[in-house]
Amino acid sequence: MKTSELIYLDNNATTRVDPAVVDEMLPYLTELYGNPSSGYRFGQQVGKALDKARERVAHLIGCEPGEVIFTSCGTESTNAAINSALLMDRDRQHIVTTRVEHSATLKHCETLAKQGHEVTWLGVDEKGQIDLHELEKAIRPDTAIVTVMWANNETGVLFPIHEIAEIVRKKHVLFHTDAVQAVGKIPLNLAESKINFLSLSGHKLHCPKGVGVLYVNKRTKFAPYLIGGGQENGKRAGTQNVASIVALGKACEVAGHNLHHEKTVVRKLRDEFEKGVLTQIEGAHVNGDTEHRLPNTSNLAFEGIDSEGALMLLDQNHICCSSGSACTTGSVHASHVLKAMGLSDERARASLRFSFSRFNTHAEVEKALEIMPKVIGKLRRIAMAA
Ligand code: PLP
Repeated sequence: MKTSELIYLDNNATTRVDPAVVDEMLPYLTELYGNPSSGYRFGQQVGKALDKARERVAHLIGCEPGEVIFTSCGTESTNAAINSALLMDRDRQHIVTTRVEHSATLKHCETLAKQGHEVTWLGVDEKGQIDLHELEKAIRPDTAIVTVMWANNETGVLFPIHEIAEIVRKKHVLFHTDAVQAVGKIPLNLAESKINFLSLSGHKLHCPKGVGVLYVNKRTKFAPYLIGGGQENGKRAGTQNVASIVALGKACEVAGHNLHHEKTVVRKLRDEFEKGVLTQIEGAHVNGDTEHRLPNTSNLAFEGIDSEGALMLLDQNHICCSSGSACTTGSVHASHVLKAMGLSDERARASLRFSFSRFNTHAEVEKALEIMPKVIGKLRRIAMAA
């Protein structure tokens, strides 16, 4: 199948690389292969490209370039922030997080719990929101870190991160946010925030896979996760993935220019699709808070269908979307996020996530709206006959 035939509505799983990003990274895969840490000009030139990328990332998230650490992915950044907090103070080994985090946090905290750390898991209501009083009460004198995602990858639900950061700071505890799904989709400004750590990932904002960032506030002590050379100001050893970092810098610059587009055009595409589905298909419902939500995400439940079957039929019609998050696709478990929101197993298993980007078009939405009722109708007929 040609990529041009695809209707790619799975942009929370990964995104198409922007051609402008590819153009900018290519020289660092060919003639500019110097080591950025080398003392001669051929290497220093590459080092300067890293500086530029750092400035561009910092500009997008409203921090200082020195607060940007390049990593290999969002998962590494998230793991590194939590581990650092635990290493900083032996008397503080308790973690507070939510039940709806991405597996980068969830599985890491489960592993830490097995190793003897105490973890408090905050639940969510039917809209996918946490209770801030409960969060405040969960913080203890021995809490090392509170980690709460900015935007949920499955539902797009946004948590009030600045408010949460204020509460956590008042308790003199470190705060990390997994902003992998938020960066590039909504404006973030860390300058005035009380956030200590933030994670982001390149492949969610039209950059290649395998590069991420951990923001560490300049007043926050940090214990490195990877130990070795002095790269990244001693905060993350290992020769940098130069071409991908250059790409991430460009992707952040382009994302900054497109924030208004995300809020208007991408949101309109999502809303048009969602409205079309809800009016054309009976027994379809939106999962999660529609008021505090990313502009690109729509998580929909269709009564009487199985989402795995829907994925296959939609795939045959060249539509890519997701049931649960991409990282758990293939597992037969109902989404932990939808379950935490109190949805029945049946409704969770009947849910699909559609996520849009600036590379989607109105024509694609129209085509998808033609296909959706046919696919859902077919699935319901099959289920009835079984
Ligand atoms: N956090 C969230 C919310 C995500 O959606 C993802 C990826 O899907 C990650 C973390 C992990 O990022 P990466 O794939 O760069 O490790």
